[in-house]
Amino acid sequence: MIKFLDLQKITQKYSDEIHEAVNRVVDSGWYLQGKENETFEMNYAQYIGTKYTIGCANGLDALILIFRAYIEMGIMDPGDEVIVPANTYIASILAISENGLKPVLVEPSFETYQIDDSKIEEVITARTKAILIVHLYGQCAYTDKIGELCKKYNLKLVEDNAQAHGCKFNGRKTGSLGDAAGHSFYPGKNLGAFGDAGAVTTSDDELAKAVRAMANYGSQKKYVFKYCGRNSRLDEVQAAVLDVKLKHLDEDITIRKKVAKYYIEHITNPQIILPIIKNWDAHVFHIFTIRTNKRDELQKYLLDNGVQTIIHYPIPPHKQECYKEWNHLTLSITEKIHNEELSLPMSPVMTEEEAKKVVEVIDNWKCEN
Ligand SMILES: *Cc1c(COP(=O)(O)O)cnc(C)c1O
Repeated sequence: MIKFLDLQKITQKYSDEIHEAVNRVVDSGWYLQGKENETFEMNYAQYIGTKYTIGCANGLDALILIFRAYIEMGIMDPGDEVIVPANTYIASILAISENGLKPVLVEPSFETYQIDDSKIEEVITARTKAILIVHLYGQCAYTDKIGELCKKYNLKLVEDNAQAHGCKFNGRKTGSLGDAAGHSFYPGKNLGAFGDAGAVTTSDDELAKAVRAMANYGSQKKYVFKYCGRNSRLDEVQAAVLDVKLKHLDEDITIRKKVAKYYIEHITNPQIILPIIKNWDAHVFHIFTIRTNKRDELQKYLLDNGVQTIIHYPIPPHKQECYKEWNHLTLSITEKIHNEELSLPMSPVMTEEEAKKVVEVIDNWKCEN
């Protein structure tokens, strides 16, 4: 069986360095907010190209903390609107609604699966305060047009960079393109920890201070509480592991791109829609996504032939029970993508033979009717 993602094999690749880092933390007797956080935060900020990285408990928290901080700073108020793509993982939208802000869903484009920047201006109102772009599947969602709209309407640009560490737009990394970004280091992400972990990146001094305080009970000084904050800290063990894996992130991305290129150049089955890649710097292939209108049949066929796949995602946010108020909406592009999407095996430990086998199996697929 070719696994969708073999985490055990990924860890084995850097096993010695990781064990050394974990042992160092175990032996140090210091497990939260210490040297490992400091080192990782510095190295990650440098990697992304921002003044600050603030480690936190997970990617959802990273996004929640950004909006919470803007509210505490008086830049946003509950009831204000935040524009967000309709086809994203639920966390992007939860981060908005948890803060009492109103998510305004915008359809993506079929060509990139990213938010369609030609549909943003028409939904901007006097209450719009931010655009949350999501670099979905590891592809850059930022466009010059989005940057111009933020300037024109004085909107904050927040990036959900959970899937796109290392992705670039004109030489700059995603996560440094807007005012602030949330990052997830969930184990399966391109930069993955051994459990939950996340971070906020920003170059805004005030925001960085507010986010850091908010993630630590709202405290800037021990036992003095400026905000009603939360407990969302990055463990020293996770920071140490992440710092090891950060050193290898670019090599890992290179391998992902090789696999992606192989898929794109070799899959010839006319029933498959491949991703359109115009700029190879602007995609880090967290997920290699194909589409077909016989998705469920293809998934079963692949499994029967030894290829494990995953769907990202089977149900769009506006059709979820947790957002009943949107269930009546028809967002046809989002729905079509959710009905047709299939994610092929993709990882920095995939071999050429494995990629070859995936291609062979797909090209042999003949769907009746
Ligand atoms: C994984 C993910 C998140 C949430 O990250 P967690 O660390 O699981 O909380 C947010 N947004 C997107 C697009 C993601 O893929």
